[in-house]
Amino acid sequence: MIRLLFIVVSLYVSTSIAASKCLDVDLILTNGTIYSGLNDRSFVGTIASKESKIIYVGDILPDSLHCAGAKVINLSGKYIYPGFTDAHGHLKGIGYRELSLNLQGISSLSETLEVVKNYLSTKELGDWIIGRGWIDKVWPENRFPTRWDLDSFAPNNPVVLERADGHAVVVNSTVLKLANIDSNTEDPQGGFIEKDINGEPTGLLVDMAMNLIADFIPKLTREDDKEAFLEGIKRNVSLGWTQIHVPGGTFDDISILNEIKSENKLLQRVYFMVSDGEPADRLLKQGPIIDPEHLLTVRAIKMYADGALGSRGAALLEKYSDYDGKGVFIFLEEETRPRLIKALNKGIQIGTHAIGDHGNRVVLDWYEDTFIEAKKNNNFLVSPRWRIEHSQNITPQDQRRFVELDIIPSMQPSHAIGDLHFAIDRLGLDRINNAYAWRNLINQGLIIAGGTDAPVEIGDPRIEFYAAVTRKDLDGFYDEGWNLDQRLTRFEALKMFTIWPAIASFEEEVKGTIEVGKFADFSIFDKDLMTIPEQIILEAKNILTVVNGKVVFQE
Ligand SMILES: [Zn+2]
Repeated sequence: MIRLLFIVVSLYVSTSIAASKCLDVDLILTNGTIYSGLNDRSFVGTIASKESKIIYVGDILPDSLHCAGAKVINLSGKYIYPGFTDAHGHLKGIGYRELSLNLQGISSLSETLEVVKNYLSTKELGDWIIGRGWIDKVWPENRFPTRWDLDSFAPNNPVVLERADGHAVVVNSTVLKLANIDSNTEDPQGGFIEKDINGEPTGLLVDMAMNLIADFIPKLTREDDKEAFLEGIKRNVSLGWTQIHVPGGTFDDISILNEIKSENKLLQRVYFMVSDGEPADRLLKQGPIIDPEHLLTVRAIKMYADGALGSRGAALLEKYSDYDGKGVFIFLEEETRPRLIKALNKGIQIGTHAIGDHGNRVVLDWYEDTFIEAKKNNNFLVSPRWRIEHSQNITPQDQRRFVELDIIPSMQPSHAIGDLHFAIDRLGLDRINNAYAWRNLINQGLIIAGGTDAPVEIGDPRIEFYAAVTRKDLDGFYDEGWNLDQRLTRFEALKMFTIWPAIASFEEEVKGTIEVGKFADFSIFDKDLMTIPEQIILEAKNILTVVNGKVVFQE
């Protein structure tokens, strides 16, 4: 039936084309297996675009029907999806990870140290060695790195290695000496200097203790930031990402991105959320910055409610199952509430980080109160599409409130499969059923904007897609009691990274599916993500990325 409809549509298009002799197009992708994103099926066909928009989707576009000059790419049956969007990715951080020593995804401490050692051998004596992304969760050594590990091969270069979550660094003795940190140094407010049984610092500095070394690390300049953005963009389009929602940043970042755009180097679309505080107040004053080309839009504010589950900072209603505490809140209510009402009046979206069930409840309370107040003053914008970033643990009663208040959960499948190694310890078997509850949320009629939280996670569409449909870690492992029933269908996973993020950024009219009139944004893979066996998803490869009708990456 669907197939029949398609033939009718393409016949209609073909007739109208014939009347105008030849079709003036820039780019033609022929012989592709097309997933339009409108349903879970594919068909073999051709897509043509002119400037930034799709102007033809159908079975074939005969040579005789297009004018000379179009770039034609024969896809030999490869798989075309609507452009993938990462609805939560820290673009500058992704770039800095690429520019510095990237320690993400290394599965043991010994290998991590080996990588640092090799990197050091490419550097001069005295150069700063700055690495990011190590995570001990799956290391067989089952311990943090220490300064002595680093001293053994780096006695003369300052070394700083940041944990993937950004909440801790390990440094070598050279850095401790520079910063005058020794056995007598006291822990700063909101952080600690890890010490061994003899009272000697181990080199691990947690949270606010990281500030003790900040002044000694060479300062990053605007040029560095620009290079990081460019590097992040380049890396993202090579993986098939055509858009990113950036959760937090400054007006300096926006000015750099504008410059990159004016140089025609903004290869992926950016939907930008400014950070709470001074940037938020500035945006509230001037109102949303909506780009008619949809390349760089700024119409949202990123706020924070609580911490993260791994470090037991997520705010829970009841105590942690493995710790005598309920987590922490990170906000000043008297500053937050007035910003919310102003944002609603100006059509500015709010996206608040909330992980724990208490964190999520408090944010729902804020949002609800704001909506009630706006309605009282006849100021209520229909469908403000406010979001909760992460939405990790939500009681069933509060899941209902997402529906009633029309809040968009913005979630990262890779968090679930990373956290499955400790989430049951933290939450216990009852509460785990309310965690990463994708299936429950979707069954109640919600959409989920899918993201990666890179550079906290790796930030690869294959990993996210795999995580969404399997809920198992990359080795296929999951723990007893882990709620596999929350996993998604392939089509739901596809929507999570295409049309649903488009709705979350108010752009579903112009992107998110492959349809005539929408932007020509495509992610093209060598494998059929919708049908291949689960484990093969991770082996699929992005071979071509098209944004705004232009090839921005080709293998
Ligand atoms: Zn984040």
